[in-house]
Amino acid sequence: MSRPAKATINLSALRHNLSFARSLAGNKVIGVIKADAYGHGAIPIAQVLQEEQIDCLAVACIEEAIVLREAGIKTPLLLLEGFYGSDELPLMEYYNLSAVIQQKEQIEILQKWSGKPFDIWLKLDTGMHRIGFLPEEYKPAYTQLRNCPNVNRIILMTHFACADESENDYTQQQIDIFRQTTKNFTEETCLCNSAGVMHWPQAHGDWIRPGLMMLGSSPFNGPHEHDHQLQPVMELTSQIFAIRKLNAGVPISYGATYVTDRPTTVGVVAMGYADGYPRHAPSGGPVLVNGQRTRVLGRISMDMMTVDLNPIPEAKIGDTVTLWGKGLPATEVAHHAGTISYELFCNLKRVPIQYV
Ligand code: PLP
Repeated sequence: MSRPAKATINLSALRHNLSFARSLAGNKVIGVIKADAYGHGAIPIAQVLQEEQIDCLAVACIEEAIVLREAGIKTPLLLLEGFYGSDELPLMEYYNLSAVIQQKEQIEILQKWSGKPFDIWLKLDTGMHRIGFLPEEYKPAYTQLRNCPNVNRIILMTHFACADESENDYTQQQIDIFRQTTKNFTEETCLCNSAGVMHWPQAHGDWIRPGLMMLGSSPFNGPHEHDHQLQPVMELTSQIFAIRKLNAGVPISYGATYVTDRPTTVGVVAMGYADGYPRHAPSGGPVLVNGQRTRVLGRISMDMMTVDLNPIPEAKIGDTVTLWGKGLPATEVAHHAGTISYELFCNLKRVPIQYV
């Protein structure tokens, strides 16, 4: 027998979520699968998305793109951070990659490039203020690129800072700046991450760029009308491997931060922060034992955590514990831990991943 902690990746849920994204926005889709598809495994996720004839896949950087090409992925690939230096251009040509262009240094590099022309995704900074050309810089950047013989298609793009806050009109302001700045351009547009796809239909444009929603997790902090249409792709599970019956007044786990307030049956679960479960999650976080909700008691250890079995008196050693997945959205666990589901997924380590 081996340690029971594992992540199960449901590839039909992935197909479902892609088709849901397509049903919301009948546009071309870029599947964002950077950071190893947010911990889900970039190659198997890319293979399924390719089978589903996704129009493009996006990764952060060239290293991530090469892994996919070497694994046989033929779908167009976009580098969201663009390139850092001129030495990447021959590799971009060899591996047939396109890149986000977000600052003038990259244009200067492209102007000196004499190889095959690239498709370029020209980033407008409409309010994220991280990367991209400011509105007054955008037209000159566009003109320089248009005059550059080694630039093929130019697609106009931006990125939202607050689209996951459905009540925040900052997104509308970003949309307005995008429209205003690009109104005389005829090129295709690309604005929306998952939250944009799910909540800001007026921004759908020609291309959408979802990541998290394809994995079946909601980018919103609270409930959203489309939640029930997302199917979680990752299920993180383990098992109870010890059961303790403790009296009232007994402290549990490191720091003795949780003290039983009544006689308590405690299940010890093979899952800890070395697996990626957030150590800073306070006592009381939700878990499922055999599909029934209960809570974490005390601090998360490196390899173990302790859960309250009082609500589930029939629980026994070997019973399944779901840390997130069907019936317990990762977003809810993340919220309790003061983080986001993106971080939970990306932090996953040590646990074997099974694809079903
Ligand atoms: N576009 C860009 C530029 C991104 O950096 C990301 C992810 O962070 C996405 C799209 C996808 O975002 P999400 O996973 O929220 O859909």
